[in-house]
Amino acid sequence: MKWVNKGESLLFPPSCFFCHASVSKSGCCKQCLQHIKPLLSPSCLRCGQALSEGLAPGPCGKCLRFPPFQIETVSLYAYQGAVREAILIWKLGGDDAGVRWLLETARQRLKTLFQPDDLFIPVPMPLSRMQKSGQHHAADLARLLAEAAGCEWDWQLLRRHGHQARQSALSGLARRKNLRKSFCLDADYLTSMQLKGILRKPVKGRVWVVDDIMTTGATLHYASKALGVLQQPIYAFSLARTLRDR
Ligand SMILES: [Zn+2]
Ligand SMILES: [Zn+2]
Repeated sequence: MKWVNKGESLLFPPSCFFCHASVSKSGCCKQCLQHIKPLLSPSCLRCGQALSEGLAPGPCGKCLRFPPFQIETVSLYAYQGAVREAILIWKLGGDDAGVRWLLETARQRLKTLFQPDDLFIPVPMPLSRMQKSGQHHAADLARLLAEAAGCEWDWQLLRRHGHQARQSALSGLARRKNLRKSFCLDADYLTSMQLKGILRKPVKGRVWVVDDIMTTGATLHYASKALGVLQQPIYAFSLARTLRDR
């Protein structure tokens, strides 16, 4: 129905998902595209930190001293420019069009990264905060990844206790302290999943702990550590990563 489409585009003219500039087709404008940095350069396999080609895949100096619990860390984009805008619009405004575009653009990479038997587990947020906001962005991300990769995801297995301060408000050392005992597996849930045969032990594919933004790496480290109960290697994934050092 051509006239309907025409009417729709008059009501909702196509715009850039990131800066809302008008464009001929909804998506990313040329200017925003210039500021989207996929993280593809050589890096430390363990923590994802960029390394020179000769030193990749690491381990890097930090991982030699204090290796993170996860055995591999992958982040899709640098948390800057349009990627930062897209994530903020999504988390604060509830519009996930930009984030979906970022995942769609990385579809090929996601296909090579994930296997159909993999399981995605979002970094949990305290239930009290989830109740208050009704939102769980890491879980939304895990669901979108699962849809893209044809994998399973589960947001109930890994839990977070207490009323921790927001990670973004804390320094590196305070983050670690805050997180050290925050995560645990829901033992009853795990047992019921195993009894139903939904969650096999060990999980056939790889277990990925998923977060939207990786800053110091402390959250992914402690969330992965709690998943160590599953007795298999844990992998970490984030949509974006700040380029500051850990
Ligand atoms: Zn734009
Ligand atoms: Zn490293």
